[in-house]
Amino acid sequence: MDVITTIIVITLGLCLGSFLNVVIVRLPVMLMQQWRTEARAALELEDDIEAPISLARPGSCCPRCGHPIAWHDNLPLMGWIKRRGRCAECKGRISVQYPLVELTSAILALTCLKLFGLQWSALWIFAACLTLMALAVIDLRTQLLPDALTLPLLWAGLLYQLLFSPAHLADAVIAVVAGYGVLWAVGAIFHAITQREGMGRGDIKLLAALGAWLGWQLLPLVVLVAAVVGVISGLLVQWQRPHLKGQALPFGPSLVIAGGLALLAGDEMLLAYKAMLGA
Ligand SMILES: [Zn+2]
Repeated sequence: MDVITTIIVITLGLCLGSFLNVVIVRLPVMLMQQWRTEARAALELEDDIEAPISLARPGSCCPRCGHPIAWHDNLPLMGWIKRRGRCAECKGRISVQYPLVELTSAILALTCLKLFGLQWSALWIFAACLTLMALAVIDLRTQLLPDALTLPLLWAGLLYQLLFSPAHLADAVIAVVAGYGVLWAVGAIFHAITQREGMGRGDIKLLAALGAWLGWQLLPLVVLVAAVVGVISGLLVQWQRPHLKGQALPFGPSLVIAGGLALLAGDEMLLAYKAMLGA
């Protein structure tokens, strides 16, 4: 990997991470606006939304005071470091989510290049990793896993198999149907018995999407690793924030961590699991 390719890939990763932050912050707001508009239309009330938000408009501004962010303060990673995580106008804190997402995106870009080389399939896997990261952060912020991300991720996974790994297409289709069907049935039974929602519908669609990328063979291991990550993070949150005890944690981020690991190092994960069973 030569220096110029590395610099281009890091820059691309940072810029896409910056765009991802826009998606993470705005997509849930856009969905809420859409749902409100639809609900008001159904109730035959007049629309009350003044300024519809989109990914492009309005331009970047401080989440606290609304002050527009100058282009040189908006450069991925650099802008946040330069302003030490504070708005140039009101000096209010700007979330550490912004640089973290940009940095993770750059690291993922480099990892995909290193693992899969300079080819189209690497770009597809990188795009899947970015979508997974967006889903995890949106779930942490809003407890939503938007269909606008999970469903395209699922279709893209099947298309990826068709284009780059047709021999695995059947495994992927089985994984989608099994991942969705089994969890849906478990959820329906849980709901019938307890009248409570166990696993969110978004989690089920996310698992089906992961199945499209990974095939059915890896799916049980992904659920197992996600459950372990979920339990550990639950304990950590209880330890750090005791007042949140009893509150349900979103499961999406755990699924994303397990699924992302499997996407980048599925074979190694299976080998490690078999070695653990053999030990
Ligand atoms: Zn401000």
